[in-house]
Amino acid sequence: MAKIAINIATGSLQQDEMIVGIDLGTTNSLVAIIHPESKNPVALKEHNASSLVPSVIHFGSSGELVVGDEAKQYLVTDPAHTIFSAKRLMGKTYNDVAGNASSLAYKIIDDEGRLVKVQVDDRFYSPVDLSALILKELKVKAEHILKTTVGKAVITVPAYFNDAQRQATRDAGKLAGLDVLRIINEPTAASLAYGFGIKKDEAKTIAVYDLGGGTFDISILTINDGIFEVLATNGDTFLGGDDLDMAVVNYWVGKNTFAEDKNETKQQLRLKAEEAKKYLSANDVFTGTFQNENISLTKDEFETIIKPIIDKTITCCGNALKDSGLTKKEIDEVIMVGGSTRTPLVKKMVSDFFGKQVNDTVNPDEVVALGAAIQADILAGNTKDLLLLDVTPLSLGLETMGGLMDVLLPRNSKIPAKAARQYTTYKDGQSGMKIAVYQGERDMVQDNRKLAEFNLSGIPGMPAGLPKVEVSFLINADGILVVKAKELRSGIEQAIQVKPQYELTDEDVEKMLLDSMQNAEKDIATRALVEARTEGEQLLETTEKFIQKNIAALTPEEITATSLAMQALQLSLDMQDKNLIQAKTEELNAISRPYAERIMDQSVSLAMKGKAV
Ligand code: AMP
Repeated sequence: MAKIAINIATGSLQQDEMIVGIDLGTTNSLVAIIHPESKNPVALKEHNASSLVPSVIHFGSSGELVVGDEAKQYLVTDPAHTIFSAKRLMGKTYNDVAGNASSLAYKIIDDEGRLVKVQVDDRFYSPVDLSALILKELKVKAEHILKTTVGKAVITVPAYFNDAQRQATRDAGKLAGLDVLRIINEPTAASLAYGFGIKKDEAKTIAVYDLGGGTFDISILTINDGIFEVLATNGDTFLGGDDLDMAVVNYWVGKNTFAEDKNETKQQLRLKAEEAKKYLSANDVFTGTFQNENISLTKDEFETIIKPIIDKTITCCGNALKDSGLTKKEIDEVIMVGGSTRTPLVKKMVSDFFGKQVNDTVNPDEVVALGAAIQADILAGNTKDLLLLDVTPLSLGLETMGGLMDVLLPRNSKIPAKAARQYTTYKDGQSGMKIAVYQGERDMVQDNRKLAEFNLSGIPGMPAGLPKVEVSFLINADGILVVKAKELRSGIEQAIQVKPQYELTDEDVEKMLLDSMQNAEKDIATRALVEARTEGEQLLETTEKFIQKNIAALTPEEITATSLAMQALQLSLDMQDKNLIQAKTEELNAISRPYAERIMDQSVSLAMKGKAV
């Protein structure tokens, strides 16, 4: 077990127990700390070098590997052994990324239909392994600069990372020898860094627009009295500067005759496209040569080809704003984060959407790591007047009767979060209850993603409806879920930590949200049908029991009428017609109600007779 040195006087962790903040980016990564003297967040760098470490790994022919600037040089000369943008592969299956495989110059393989792996010669690496190699390099670098061991870290992830991608990042930290104290969302980290500088009594509502190399996030937050409260978050973990580069590559390939089929050429063209993109952030025309052909790109051409990509981010902004319940006017400030926000069209379209000039004064490359360092300092107990309240990006719930999704924690719930609800059995003597946990926005569980299933067994025999099974969801600050089920009368209990299977893709997340909106009408109809069916089935079961128990007290006409009405209800259940089921349920109720009341009255008066008042 790791030993933690605590300063007894202050109750905080000892200074030599350095907790760093790490921005593990698609393109670049970096480490930041709170400076021991100035108490301000600073990015770690060696003398005049940049704080950014390119997220690139090169595998040499005899197994040696280099990470960062040195590895970047091999992108063109040895593309098959040089891995970039590994973050885009986190938690993905081969099918998720196959469409983009052509933009990667290294080999990705189908790992039995499950998670994607990268093949380098005869070795295979998962995105977790690759991220761990980058984290290890950051750790070594930080230790060299700080001259102390670095064992604990706060690592940032895109807000829209699902549980699987968060767990993968956590695992990568573990593999790199880091105790990952907290996973925090990149835009939230950026807001911490931004909010660090504002006066404590100043209340602000901000939007953080974060477009990096491979991911996009938008978060809406309020900062009030040192409390950072995320109201809503949205995004796409497969959208970023890489896509702008590919759009330029495709444009040039369409216009020119050069061959870009070889890996080396593909890489060179990609790098040329990135160079043009960056150049056009400050100039109007880019010209150059490629394979002895002249190539050019004007700012207008560039903006036309990238507009559809930026449009996607604007759609996400609209969704986040809607979920936050705020209007554009209520957003005081729009903070721009991530290298791709240097593109003027991005600033323009975001300014136009929010109806105000965006704030591009924070350093888009460092701000996320600086925020992570502030969170690290909060966890170390040094910064006490800031509190971060983040949210979960997708709804969590249970399967209930008829395959309905019963949401316990709606999306955008504050984390850590807890919710509990009571359920009961629907069969006499039922001794077990299946607890199936789902994530998603649709009304029927079959349209959402199953996270886990377990059985609460050993419920003592009781009539249907009597056991009280309380199911509770606890989602911790990293977004990892623990589910508990307890039968309150007997005290039997079961708990599991939900381990997502790293299988939900961003397309799935987006599709789930989109589907839930597009299918809202259909879902409501399905829900109504399922509810009608459940009610009908329950009525059939209780009527059957009642008749068996009270047959002697019923007239032959009542018995015949009841059995006919039961048959009609059973038939309607099979026909999936909600209105018919409701009508037949009502008919059966109308027939059974009078004799049920009569028999109840008789038994009450019978009971009263025996008693002396
Ligand atoms: P990040 O993941 O935040 O490090 O962002 C990296 C992305 O920012 C890459 O796609 C870069 O090509 C892009 N980028 C960096 N500098 C510029 C610039 N001057 N103009 C446009 N994009 C840039």
